[in-house]
This record gives sequence, structure tokens and C-alpha cells, in this order.
Amino acid sequence: MPKIIIAKNAGFCPGVKSAIDLVIELSKKNQKKIYTLGPLIHNKDVIKSLEEKNIFAIENLDEIKEENAILVIRAHGITPELEKYIRNKKLQIIDGTCPLVKNVHRLIEKYSSQGYWTVILGDKDHAEVIGLKGYAGEKSFIINSIEEAQKLPEMDNIHLVSQTTQEEELFYKVANLMKNKTKNLIISNTICNPTKLRQRETYEFSKNADLVIVVGGKHSANTQRLFKICSKLAKSAILIERPEELNEKIISGKENIFITAGASTPNWLIESVFEKTQKLLKSEKEKFTEFLNILWKTFINSGIYTGISAAFLTLISSQILGSNIIPKKILLTSTLFVLSLHVLNRAAEKNEVEADEIKKIIFIKFANTIKTIAYISGIFSLLISATINQKIFISISFIWLIGIIYPYTISKHFHKINGSKDIILSLGWTFACSILPIFWLKEKLTEEILLIIIFIFILVFIRSILLSISQAHNDMIVGKENIYKVLGSKKTEFLLYFLSLFTIIIFFYISHLNKNHFTTFISLFYYPLIIYIFNKNKIPDKTNSEALIDFQFILTGALFLI
Ligand code: SF4
Repeated sequence: MPKIIIAKNAGFCPGVKSAIDLVIELSKKNQKKIYTLGPLIHNKDVIKSLEEKNIFAIENLDEIKEENAILVIRAHGITPELEKYIRNKKLQIIDGTCPLVKNVHRLIEKYSSQGYWTVILGDKDHAEVIGLKGYAGEKSFIINSIEEAQKLPEMDNIHLVSQTTQEEELFYKVANLMKNKTKNLIISNTICNPTKLRQRETYEFSKNADLVIVVGGKHSANTQRLFKICSKLAKSAILIERPEELNEKIISGKENIFITAGASTPNWLIESVFEKTQKLLKSEKEKFTEFLNILWKTFINSGIYTGISAAFLTLISSQILGSNIIPKKILLTSTLFVLSLHVLNRAAEKNEVEADEIKKIIFIKFANTIKTIAYISGIFSLLISATINQKIFISISFIWLIGIIYPYTISKHFHKINGSKDIILSLGWTFACSILPIFWLKEKLTEEILLIIIFIFILVFIRSILLSISQAHNDMIVGKENIYKVLGSKKTEFLLYFLSLFTIIIFFYISHLNKNHFTTFISLFYYPLIIYIFNKNKIPDKTNSEALIDFQFILTGALFLI
């Protein structure tokens, strides 16, 4: 199951959060427009929602036309010159500079006043760094890499500071390098605590991630930096602004996904990215489950499973008879025979087919294809039987013809006879799976052979009744041609237990034919168990019921082979 971790320290940093809270509070108290010097954050949705609240980001003071307008200094801060300039304007100034940025201003002021050169590690175009440079004055350098640090001249004294969102690792490398540039170095690690926490968390989780999703503005410096770290550590990383940018291709095959976000990414956006990721994973999982389910349903409902169970029933017959040879031709004949009639009969059962999506596809959408396959299976079954002997070929051809016309003609006359469907179905199976191998292996009809035929007939009869119970439970129309409908649940339950007991007794008796078969005796308790489960009303859906019911033959047949 894929794991998704959301960074605890993702989203708005305290500085950004308090600046946004500040403008929203102001907008509630004032009817006037509120201006911010530059966008508060780099998120288009948030900017739009702020505009709806009468809060506008401007790049130039000339954009303010009205007097006494409210102007908010954002969290990044500004230069002292600019602050002085705007304070002389007829504007109402609200300082939203983050206290942690203000702290850097104070540190720069302190050491600058003592004659120190200020080296600022940061992005020279970033508003915060422009502000810091303003406090540092002329005796300052802005660097953003090791290479730029190496190029710096030697100085009497250096005060090293950092942009608050700088990468810690880079800062320490630069600090080390600065030792070669001066004998008097003051290092102020001004990377703010929220940034440190975010970065440390990013290191920890990115290392094990198959995919890191960084949510944030593509023009945001801290988001870019975060993305750079993740790209180095994780197997793959992606930077997105909106959940719509995610798709199945990106998420596919990823087991460990880590979601983090820049300082100016709202939590709701992180949440929606999380939801989208979950949805994509879920739909992938669901698709896979659905695919398996379709495969399973197709396997059971297409008649393949029923054909296989018929093969095992044939095997049971031949093994009880004491044959050491597995009659491959007989197995194939009975399998194709049952498969053919099962499919053709099912294709004629509209009521059952329409209740199931897969059956609808198999027996309605591909009706002609499936019927053709069924006829071909039947013809192959006859052809193989013809290679065994004439007697088998003639009898199987006769039964097959009755079987294919049964749903269209004979059933119309027989359906008024109580339990006719269960009886006819069981006779067909008994013929294919029991009488055929007997024809092939033994010629004479002895008392023991008759018991084997009865044993097989009862097993198939139980199967047929259990199938109609399952149909009725799944709200399908079950007519009086089914024993269950005639007797009702209580009497049917009694009949099924009685028949099961009968199969156990018969098997006990006939197993003397070959003592090795005694090990399969235990499998005959499978049907009583299914009867018990069905009577407790714990009946699975039609497909799984069918799989469970037909499994009796597979189980017993397989035990014969061990
Ligand atoms: S990143 Fe740090 S210093 Fe910058 S505004 Fe946020 S909390 Fe303040």
C-alpha cells in the first residue's frame, strides 16, 4: 500500500501567516482599499481571494491614487530608505515585517555600525535580501554560491548573515570559506527556525521517498530551494502550483510519497494535493482490483471454471472405478461438453445474465462470439468422443443435441414439473462426467458401478440446488423447476444434509474398491459446510457462490491425485 507523508512544517510560515492575518483583519475593519508592497505570497489563488477582500498587491507606489490609503509592508521587509520614503507620503503604513527578518535588520545595523563588512548569503533579487542590503549599506556583498564566496576579496572584518530561507548546508560551507577571507569573522546564522525545521524534515523524508511533491509558487525562492534539495535526495521530485498538475503517470508505481510545500503555500492547497494524490493512487488501486475482479468474474462466468470442475468430476468417477490411467480423451470430452451446454444454457437465461454486469458483457454484448465458442467446444467434444468409440459418440451427440435445444423448447414443457431443472441438469452432468468414463473403462453395469453413478448424480444434484439457493438469495427469479422453490428453505436444508450424508455413506461403501481413495473421504464434508454457511444466510454474491459450489469437485478430484 503506497504511503503518503505530509510535511509537518509545510505551508505558511509564521511570518507569512501573521502578515495575511494582519491584512484580513484590516480589511474587515476598513472600507478602504488595502495595498501591499509586492504580493504577500506567490500563490495566484490566494492573491485572487485577497483581491476579493479589497486587498491589492502593487509593485509601484504610483499605483496608489487615493490619499490616506492603507499600505502594508509585507513579511520580507523593505530597505530603511524606502520605509522613510513611504512614511513621508500621505499613507497609512502598517508594518507586517516578520519579527525574524527584523532581527536580521538589527544584527546588520549593529555590526555595520561597528565597521564590519556585511556578507549576505541570498538571492540578490529577492525582496528580503534587497531589504537586508539596505540596512548593510555600501560596505556589503551579496553572494549566492560557493563560487561567488570564493571570489570575494579579503576583508578586515566580516559579518556573515543569511537570507532567512537559505539552505543551511550552503550557509555552513560559506561560513567556513569566510574564515580564509578575514581574521575577524562574525557568523550570524539568520536562517529562521521555521525554515530550518522545514529543511531538516525535507532531508529526513526525501531520502526515502520515491517521489516528493513540492507544492508552491514556481517563482517563489524558498519553494525553488526546497525543490532543489528534494531533487537531490529523492528518487524523483516535482514542483507543482496546483493539484491539477498531478496525473497518474507521475504517481504511478510510487510507494513512498512525501508532500512538502514552500513558506507561501496555503494549507488547503497542500490538503487538496494530498487528496488528489490519494485519489490517483486509489483509482490506480481500484482499477487494479477491478481488473482482477473482472478477470475472476470472467473466469467463473464464462464457463471455463465450470468446465474445469466437470473435468475433476470425471476424474473422480474414473478414480473411484480404480483406473490408474487418467482418461485424457474422456476428460476433454466431458469438459468441452459441459462447457458448451453450460454456456449455451446461460446465454438463454436472460434473467440471470441481466443481473450481472460481466455476464451482460459476456452473454449479451459478445453473445454471438460466446455462442460460437460454445458450439465449437460442443463439436470438438463430439469429435474427440468419436475417436474413443462409436457408442460414446452416438450417446454424447444425442445428449448434446437435447442440451442445446433444452432452453428453447423442452424447458417450456418441463418447467411446470417441480424440480425438473435440477434433475435434468444433474442427469446431463452425470452422463458426461460419470457414465462416459464408465463406458470407457468398464463395460458391465454392476451394483458398485450403479452406486458410483448415483454418487456422482447426488453430488451434481446438491450442486444444482445450492446454485438455485444462491440465485434466490441474489434476488434472481427462481421458478418451481428448482427444488429449492418447491420445498422452501427448511425442507431444502434437510434434503441437502440428507443427500450429503448419503454421498458420504456411498463413498464409504465404494471406497473399498480402492483403499487409497479413503483419503478423499474428508472432502465430502465440504458440501455440508457450504450448506451450513448458506443456511446461516452468509451467501456470497452469485459469482463467488458459484466458485464455492463447484469447488467441491475440484477439491475431491485433486485429493484423488495426491
Ligand atoms: S521565512 Fe522565516 S523569517 Fe521569513 S517570513 Fe517566514 S518565518 Fe519570517
